[in-house]
Amino acid sequence: MISGIFDCAIVGAGPAGATAALVLARAGRRVILFEKERLPRVKPCGGGVSPEVFSLLGIEAGPQAGVVASVSEAEILFNGQHPFSCRLKRPCLMVDRGRFDHHLVSLAAAMGAEICDGTTVTGFSDGSFSVAVETTRGSVAARFVIIADGGQGRTARKAGFETGRNRVEGIAVAEEVPAGGVGRIVIDIGMIPCGYTWLFPKGDRFSIGLGITKRDGNHRFIFERLRCFADRCGVPFDRLLLRGARLGLWSRRRIPSSRGPFLLAGEAACLVDPLCAEGIRPAVKSGIMGGAAVIAALDGDGSAFDRYETALQETFDRHFAVAARIAQFFFLFPFLSYRAVFSRPDLGVFMSRVFLGEVSYDDIAHKALGFLRRTIAPRTHEQ
Ligand SMILES: Cc1cc2nc3c(=O)[nH]c(=O)nc-3n(C[C@H](O)[C@H](O)[C@H](O)COP(=O)(O)OP(=O)(O)OC[C@H]3O[C@@H](n4cnc5c(N)ncnc54)[C@H](O)[C@@H]3O)c2cc1C
Repeated sequence: MISGIFDCAIVGAGPAGATAALVLARAGRRVILFEKERLPRVKPCGGGVSPEVFSLLGIEAGPQAGVVASVSEAEILFNGQHPFSCRLKRPCLMVDRGRFDHHLVSLAAAMGAEICDGTTVTGFSDGSFSVAVETTRGSVAARFVIIADGGQGRTARKAGFETGRNRVEGIAVAEEVPAGGVGRIVIDIGMIPCGYTWLFPKGDRFSIGLGITKRDGNHRFIFERLRCFADRCGVPFDRLLLRGARLGLWSRRRIPSSRGPFLLAGEAACLVDPLCAEGIRPAVKSGIMGGAAVIAALDGDGSAFDRYETALQETFDRHFAVAARIAQFFFLFPFLSYRAVFSRPDLGVFMSRVFLGEVSYDDIAHKALGFLRRTIAPRTHEQ
């Protein structure tokens, strides 16, 4: 394996790891990125990405970055009925995940990052002033390690993090099918309990799938519901080869994301939105913050990793705590919540702006409270 001490070794070339590698390489640090799959790799994903991701990364949202469609229309349904259509203020972008992730890796490589694909990180041991990162192709020394191995990764445990404890998991499956013509996002939130089914237009293809933010184990029922959704959308279900993964959802009891020379980023740190299961933007944000924390630590800032933890709390914990509360209410009273939100076009459009990075869940909660106050207060006066 490559000799010398790296400033940082990164485990996993998804959006979190590739972004961290890009940040470190742009700053001229010696960084090595390990990915167990051969790149570009296939990643089961809907591929819906907020345009904010591209401004955060400072890159163009074009075909070279895997962007395959830009969608401005959405239709939300409740169990195939009560359609609510809206025009998004800014288009939502659809990416081919293999190409998007690989673009980030290529940018990092062009800035000098060492890329080792087809290489699994198997463990860590202490070296003098560094960590020995053990892989299936030998070991390398690094001063710091960012673990970004996704929702199903196992390396955090090997670095001593108490993963598994308090972990909240969801599941998501998706498949892309050749199709064209329909240019709108279709989301049905009454088809399955505690989740939703989606159809995302992706150029000459569709992504069809479902995400559930709570595992109830009844997979046969869930797949039957997806079949029903596919039938309604005119997609031949029997030809689908659904691929999926467990999601490392955010929870109130999220474990700390730093330990000694190690940082967690992306889904490895359980940074997936507990309401809509969005994971790409949090992965990119935490990759940027993680890369910056390592740069500060390399420059001698002894509290850089503590500040990383604080930054994660400020950026995600408050926002996702509100999302989790909304999810709890929504999934307990799905039809009532659906009618409350989507019978009011302005609130429905406002919801979509969270995904566009224009407003936060806090703003939604304030707006909903204001709405409740306005509707309840006059009645109280009348009594
Ligand atoms: C079916 C499905 C649909 C989804 N749809 C959306 C969507 O539309 N929009 C959205 O925002 N989010 C979506 N998500 C969530 C999103 O895909 C993830 O949250 C996101 O990919 C997390 O990024 P990451 O970089 O943390 O991890 P990942 O993208 O999972 O990358 C981790 C990488 O680490 C590698 N790895 C693992 N172990 C090792 C090891 N020991 N050594 C080396 N490499 C290793 C893996 O091979 C993988 O490439 C979806 C998820 C699923 C499952």
